[in-house]
Amino acid sequence: MSRMHPTRPQVEIFVWLSIFLLLVLLSWQFHWHESLDAFVEEHHRYPLDDVFVALNISGFLGLIYSVLRIRDLSKEVNRRLQAEKNVDWIAYHDSLTELPNRRFLDSVCAQKTIDRWARQAYAVFSIDLDGFKKINDLLGHDHGDAVLKAVAQRLSSLFPGERVFRLGGDEFVILARRTGNPDLVAVGNSIVAEIGKPFTINGIAIDLGASVGLALYPDNGDDLNQVIRHSDCAMYSAKRQGRNLVKTFIPSMHDELAKRIRVEADLRAAIKNAEIVPYYQPLVDLKTNKVIGFEALARWKTASGEFIPPSEFIPVAEEAGLIVDLAEQLLRRACTDALSWPDDLVLSFNVSPLQLSDRLLGLRILKILGDIGFPAHRIELEVTESAIIQDAVTARIVLDDLVNAGVRIALDDFGTGYSSLSQLSNYQFDKIKIDRSFVTSFEANDKQDKVVKAIIALGAGLGVTITAEGIEEESQLRRLQDLGCDIGQGYLLGRPVPVEELAADHASASIVQHRR
Ligand code: C2E
Ligand code: CA
Ligand code: CA
Repeated sequence: MSRMHPTRPQVEIFVWLSIFLLLVLLSWQFHWHESLDAFVEEHHRYPLDDVFVALNISGFLGLIYSVLRIRDLSKEVNRRLQAEKNVDWIAYHDSLTELPNRRFLDSVCAQKTIDRWARQAYAVFSIDLDGFKKINDLLGHDHGDAVLKAVAQRLSSLFPGERVFRLGGDEFVILARRTGNPDLVAVGNSIVAEIGKPFTINGIAIDLGASVGLALYPDNGDDLNQVIRHSDCAMYSAKRQGRNLVKTFIPSMHDELAKRIRVEADLRAAIKNAEIVPYYQPLVDLKTNKVIGFEALARWKTASGEFIPPSEFIPVAEEAGLIVDLAEQLLRRACTDALSWPDDLVLSFNVSPLQLSDRLLGLRILKILGDIGFPAHRIELEVTESAIIQDAVTARIVLDDLVNAGVRIALDDFGTGYSSLSQLSNYQFDKIKIDRSFVTSFEANDKQDKVVKAIIALGAGLGVTITAEGIEEESQLRRLQDLGCDIGQGYLLGRPVPVEELAADHASASIVQHRR
């Protein structure tokens, strides 16, 4: 990369030697030594020859001194150049993985902008690791660092001779020169496959995933920087659609991302201003027709009066790392509200899958209950099967903490996930909530009816209470009562309402009577 340039001392030696040679040549050409001899001869009464010998010797010594000095200077300058090179290297590389960093990438982009004529076609892959944060949280930063190094090595060997950058955290970018017409999605998939192979760190096998975005330079933009933003955008889209995906950039991804950024900013403000509040939907005992408690459902009413459904903002809160704050705020509020209800009413609260991978979740929840003075036995947490399967080890720790403190656990949306029966034997659930989709269709579909019947029988066998969600019709209610379902929930029995409306209804069975 670098051509050797002479250093300044080398130039100086060269100049001095040239002057010396020039003087020798001149004296030879113009017979200066003869004139000098004549001059000395003429003034022989002075000791001029001694003076000239002395001058010669001191000149010679001066020359030796200069050469030595110049050599020292030369060494010093080389040392400085090396140090400068090291500083440069440090500034342009990531010290952990030794890969080029964002600054390096920026400088490549700047160069590309100038050297348009030297346009080389690139495939840009933006890579974000799935599940990396959990490694840091659960196994510590040493393991996290070791994993990042291993990822860097795998990517570098997958793309020999190409530039692999680490942009910070668990984000990588690859600039791969494009020659011919390779199947770039297949290349992206090979990245996913490579990262998907287990890593063994200190004897522990660690699984990771990767979301990969792909954009093309110059096809997707004239400016390499912009193309990298596009591949980032595509990576983002891949991440939203699940782990281990490769997405190629299409322009509509930009609108999607812009919308997300807006929602995220609004959500941040809404959490800060406590604008998201729990509404309460009654849970009704189908044998006695009495309200036995309420499920808290998050409601976000924006300043313009628009309701944004939780199915939209909960995933954003999860991705933006806001779920812990949001859930804590909602739980505090719900427990405070529920304190004023009759003692026998339970508060059901939803826990998102991401929360369940937080080892400290149990302690966080118990702390809130303690702060507010809400008894643990009056709270029921609704978790989904997928949340448990995603990280079974952490889920077990969290659920054990909570169960030991007397909190009840409900398995939500039963029938929509893996419905693996082993979940039911591995955990002691207090309740199973049959998903709304069964209740909606079981009257018209004989098979669904049999499934609902079987789930209710399973609950009875395991000693687990069964709740049916989404009851909208009287006929559905009657059928569920006939089948011996324990608890019902749905618009027929009561819609989710704000706490003020609950207070008006005295938070009692009268709600049910009133609405039916
Ligand atoms: P989910 O836990 O299954 O909650 C039940 C959903 O069904 C609620 O939707 C509720 O309003 C709706 N629902 C209840 N009865 C009926 C009915 O008869 N017919 C119909 N069509 N729908 C009915 P919502 O409030 O929009 O919540 C959607 C999902 O968002 C919830 O599903 C839950 O997974 C999540 N969610 C809501 N609040 C929270 C929260 O505070 N934290 C977390 N992590 N998730 C929440
Ligand atoms: Ca629920
Ligand atoms: Ca549900």
